Amino acid sequence: MDKKQIITQIENNVKNCQKCRLCKTAKNPVPGEGNINSEVIFIGEAPGQVEDETGRPFVGRAGKLLELLLKEIGLKREDVWIGNIIKHRPPENRDPLPDELIACEPYLTLQIKTIAPLLVVTLGRFSMNYFYPDGKISRDRAHVINAKGFNVYPVYHPAAALRNPTMAQVLKQDFLNIPNVLKQLKNPSVTASTDVGEAIVDGQLMLGL
Ligand code: URA
Repeated sequence: MDKKQIITQIENNVKNCQKCRLCKTAKNPVPGEGNINSEVIFIGEAPGQVEDETGRPFVGRAGKLLELLLKEIGLKREDVWIGNIIKHRPPENRDPLPDELIACEPYLTLQIKTIAPLLVVTLGRFSMNYFYPDGKISRDRAHVINAKGFNVYPVYHPAAALRNPTMAQVLKQDFLNIPNVLKQLKNPSVTASTDVGEAIVDGQLMLGL
């Protein structure tokens, strides 16, 4: 099987998944979508209402902000792969429960192993803790952590940034640093123009969503 066939097979398994209670209340599974040859991928927590209605990740307000942030670094959403650790919407967007995280875990692990990106950007605490259970988002954001065999770069969740302008600025800075991180990962002997996590950014993030 080639890469595309494996990804399609995982998506079909997600669509038929009944391993936890969430499939009973969700309208649609949200397996993830995008460019499976991207060097950087973005991982959120779980589908929200609009994602549940459409079967697509990050298409609500947080998704609009994610698209703006991608644009800041010269990317469109279709250039990258976007997924979640949980594939069915938790009722009322509650936090995923431990048994739901365990049930869903193999899908994302297999998806990432298949895509084999250079960098995994985790959006929010749950996504970071999937790779790095001891991680603290305020301490570890914008640092590259090698976890589960992947280069993980945790940043705040766009939904949290929508509620908190200070967090939005930090999230924008951390996004603007992604090209530097990629450069360093490709050629560790070259010092990138800005240290990881230290990018200074001018301008305001447009939050009129
Ligand atoms: N929040 C997430 O974590 N994932 C989505 O797909 C949408 C909102």
